[in-house]
Amino acid sequence: MIVAEQKPLPDLQRMLKGKKKVLAVGCGTCVSVCFAGGQKETRGLAKALQTAAAVDGEEMVVEEKTVQRQCVQEFIEPLEDDLSEYDAVLSLGCGVGVQTMAERYPKTRVLPGLDTNFMGQPTEPGIWEERCVGCGNCVLEYTGGLCPITRCPKQLMNGPCGGSENGMCEVDTSIPCIWAKIWDNSDNLNLMDMLMEVQPPKDWSTSRGGGMRRTVVRDDLHQPHAIGKATKSEVEAMETSEEDEVPTPEDPHAGEREDAFLKEMGLA
Ligand code: SF4
Ligand code: SF4
Repeated sequence: MIVAEQKPLPDLQRMLKGKKKVLAVGCGTCVSVCFAGGQKETRGLAKALQTAAAVDGEEMVVEEKTVQRQCVQEFIEPLEDDLSEYDAVLSLGCGVGVQTMAERYPKTRVLPGLDTNFMGQPTEPGIWEERCVGCGNCVLEYTGGLCPITRCPKQLMNGPCGGSENGMCEVDTSIPCIWAKIWDNSDNLNLMDMLMEVQPPKDWSTSRGGGMRRTVVRDDLHQPHAIGKATKSEVEAMETSEEDEVPTPEDPHAGEREDAFLKEMGLA
């Protein structure tokens, strides 16, 4: 999941200075699991901001709403009718959620309430650790499911650097040397022969470093004029202006897939 944390209160106060009415929008998925931007955190932050403004002698009303997934157009669509009431939206979604809001509602000032850190997992109560940087060319097949791109500071692909001591990394002695872990577990998985093969240089063209990446997951679902991507007024304009309207193919299983996903996430 995506791991994030709330920006410090003084940073949020600075961003919201002069705003009279603000809508804090939480997200009920990843950032609620790491206690950064779920409903409880959004409520708490709205109250804290309003109290802090009052203490500074400023008038600011902070209302709050939490949507299930801020990074999906359909989930933020219900917010559209009320947005004109607010001077700004404080998004407590990850960076993707903030951008989904900002792109869908370009006339609304959308501000980030969180710092988005990484894709990771909780490893013990209160601790989340990075596990994937989204390199676009996964090598976990060769490494027994442990990622050297994310977890080796040198991003080595063919075994350890030789500097680890007692299984810990020489660059950061508080983390395990992931290559020591890969090797230690290779016997269980019968991976030793594979690990002894020299891997060719990794193809980094799929990773970060250039512009925005894009993945077409389901070409058959690609609908450039899908209702979920446009605002209501844009949809109305499209509907009245399209003389030769091309019927949009319906996906009869979209609802079932959505329900299954929510169930998997423990949200339904
Ligand atoms: S190899 Fe790439 S895609 Fe696979 S876990 Fe590591 S960073 Fe993520
Ligand atoms: S000690 Fe291990 S994890 Fe650390 S840089 Fe060297 S190979 Fe990578």
